[in-house]
Amino acid sequence: MPKKSYTKIAMWLLNMECNFQCPYCFYDDGQRSLKQKLQLKMLDLFPSKNLYKTRFITPEKAKQFFDATGHRWLIVLSGGEPFVYPKFVELVEALGEKHQMIIGTNLSLPIDKFLEKIKPGMIHSFYASLHLGERERQHLSVDDFLEKAVRLTKAGFKVEIDYVMYPELIPRFLEIHERFKKEGLFVEAKVFRGMYGGKKYPESYTQEERDFFSKYTPSEVDRAASFKDLSFTGVPCSAGFDLVRIFANGVITRCPHDRENLGNLFSGKLKLHKTVKPCVVPNCKCTLAIKEKCVDFEKRK
Ligand code: SF4
Ligand code: SF4
Repeated sequence: MPKKSYTKIAMWLLNMECNFQCPYCFYDDGQRSLKQKLQLKMLDLFPSKNLYKTRFITPEKAKQFFDATGHRWLIVLSGGEPFVYPKFVELVEALGEKHQMIIGTNLSLPIDKFLEKIKPGMIHSFYASLHLGERERQHLSVDDFLEKAVRLTKAGFKVEIDYVMYPELIPRFLEIHERFKKEGLFVEAKVFRGMYGGKKYPESYTQEERDFFSKYTPSEVDRAASFKDLSFTGVPCSAGFDLVRIFANGVITRCPHDRENLGNLFSGKLKLHKTVKPCVVPNCKCTLAIKEKCVDFEKRK
């Protein structure tokens, strides 16, 4: 990406819906499971319908919202799975006229329309997660993921790939890493958070595993945030001033952790901080805010 062309960052959690059901998904709660079951039932009954019609905003309205702020935004679109969001490609197309995007995806759904309509200049990068276990459970191959990542790269998009180090999948990481390397793609190790075999992770990774993962985690910030919670309580952070979180229900907060309400996407309201304020929450896992220097990484506790 050229030198920063944006002045504000919005981490927009587009939806909670996903075509995957990874065992470690932080959305795998009872509510979501029930909603997904209903959606799957509807899919059987009305295969031609888009099932993911919860609350969504049209591409035009989303564009109006961001344009009306007068800023150029870096919009991080994640979910759920953004590619199941209604009119996702149209949304990216509309936002891309003035803003740039990062797209977090499991790269399992077709990308043909995306490649046809979206120019690489609109996209800062993809972060594509290779959820190997769920991918194979759905009879989707690693080659399918690789082929899509290569197509995107050849079309001029930057694609970053991560692999969740779910304990039973750790032994397969190296082989996958080498396979992608042959195509010029680097697969990053991402720690698993949750319970497995009665043990809590990432706390239960051995030192050997930690050292191994570190070799495949290029960013110092990611390495630092992998195994322990970082804290910046009391340290000035520009989240709320030049970075916000937008939740799937439209609520806009200072960041993923500080839920101070700054507006709502659906009602078109946004009230950013006028100055940089200290962080007031105990922990920060917002590596993007740290990498974007909203807060001074060296002042972590
Ligand atoms: S792909 Fe992501 S959002 Fe979907 S189930 Fe897996 S972890 Fe959750
Ligand atoms: S330091 Fe982290 S948790 Fe604190 S306000 Fe900034 S982004 Fe949020």
